[in-house]
Amino acid sequence: MQIVSLFQLYHKRMFFVVNFSMNKLEHIGIAVANLEASEALFTSLLGVSPYKREVVESEHVITSFFQVGEVKIELLAASNDQSTIAKFIEKKGEGLHHLAFEVDDIAQALIEKSNSGFELIHTQPKPGADGKMIAFLHPKTTNSVLTELCQTVNK
Ligand code: ZN
Repeated sequence: MQIVSLFQLYHKRMFFVVNFSMNKLEHIGIAVANLEASEALFTSLLGVSPYKREVVESEHVITSFFQVGEVKIELLAASNDQSTIAKFIEKKGEGLHHLAFEVDDIAQALIEKSNSGFELIHTQPKPGADGKMIAFLHPKTTNSVLTELCQTVNK
């Protein structure tokens, strides 16, 4: 009797909690002031060289990617003063900027996360680096962890 009710409770909880799951941690974004210096530092730290650099004009950032096992490290440097990375570094200094989770359907994921009470920075997916559509959730509803959702569109 007790086992049955515990199972039912567990099952009910699972049913409500797991309404949408992230596929995996896709990358970790790190804000840096000097891309060349940080590429050298992370090459030394990780033991691999960056596999590409990419400018994201709309975000005023230059990115540099490292592959470490299944996860990527994305260095983010400001390309001008308008960049949110410039503002971030001014406020908080260099360091951990965001976690990015891969999803199958980013538009659907945004709707579900919004319905679950998370505040969206972007209500629509937009083109990001590395052949992805991206959108951010506001850190004030994610325990101060800036969270990116991403969906691969071009490999
Ligand atoms: Zn990112």
